[in-house]
Amino acid sequence: MAKTKISVKDKIAGKMTTKHKKNVKNRGFISFLDTSSLENVEFFNPKKGKHCIDIVPYEVVTDGHPTTEQGEWDYNLELWVHYGVGSNNASYLCLDKMYGKKCPICEYLQMNDVEDEDFQQMKAKQRVVYNVLDSEDGKLKLFNISYPLFEDEWQKLKEDYVDEEEIVTPIYAEDGYSIRFTETGKKGLGRFSGFRFKEIEDYDESLLDKSISLETLMVIPTYEEVKSTFEGNYSNIEDEEGVEGEIEEEDEEGVEGEIEEEPKKEVAKKSKGECPSGLTFGEDFETDDACDECPVKIYKACKAENYSE
Ligand SMILES: [Zn+2]
Repeated sequence: MAKTKISVKDKIAGKMTTKHKKNVKNRGFISFLDTSSLENVEFFNPKKGKHCIDIVPYEVVTDGHPTTEQGEWDYNLELWVHYGVGSNNASYLCLDKMYGKKCPICEYLQMNDVEDEDFQQMKAKQRVVYNVLDSEDGKLKLFNISYPLFEDEWQKLKEDYVDEEEIVTPIYAEDGYSIRFTETGKKGLGRFSGFRFKEIEDYDESLLDKSISLETLMVIPTYEEVKSTFEGNYSNIEDEEGVEGEIEEEDEEGVEGEIEEEPKKEVAKKSKGECPSGLTFGEDFETDDACDECPVKIYKACKAENYSE
């Protein structure tokens, strides 16, 4: 999906805010976001019912943003996260999907025949984080939510709103739009419908000084760290001694060293060319909500095909 270009940068040129770089502290619970350096941070947790928010852009102040250069402005932070890792249910950014590097969990899922339920739980989930202005109380908050369930939904709506032949982008700006939606309460919280855009009336430029540079909150783990935590739970991955988190295993067998280019052939053969949801097998991998419901074997074969291209 193409990034939305924002014009806010020009409007507030020169108004640089100083943001603190993150200072990752050792905490009991390992998460992919660290808000410990922020004062009075609040999260937006929409309960069942109607909501109206403004997505407030932020300045990227480090070179650690996955897609946006330092000094530029962005409106969201897209993340891929493995949840429930190890015995303390740690959450880690997926090094593969975020940075194209090796991820021990993705490697494991690709090399092993994992039960469907486990696979769905272990695979990386696409998330998105925003600074949002909650119309209910007028507060600026952090919003961390499923990308397919939220951003995909409002992005679909974008082309219905055309302003002077330009596609409307719902971000907090002088000519921007708020997003209205309903939390449906179906299947637990985090299901949304009824998305609509509405012109922003009370624009306050100073709010842009308060938005948090979201990339500074990311906790980027090392391969070894993820592997060590992961194998604390799945110690039978390679052998019973894998708990220490050695990284030599890639060289032990040819098959393992070739996962990027050469997927397991027997897996790829089984279902090649067929997507149960009518998408293009091997091409549309993880581009649709339907991929979440895909049978594990087809999902893996599609992924392998996608990676081999
Ligand atoms: Zn991964």
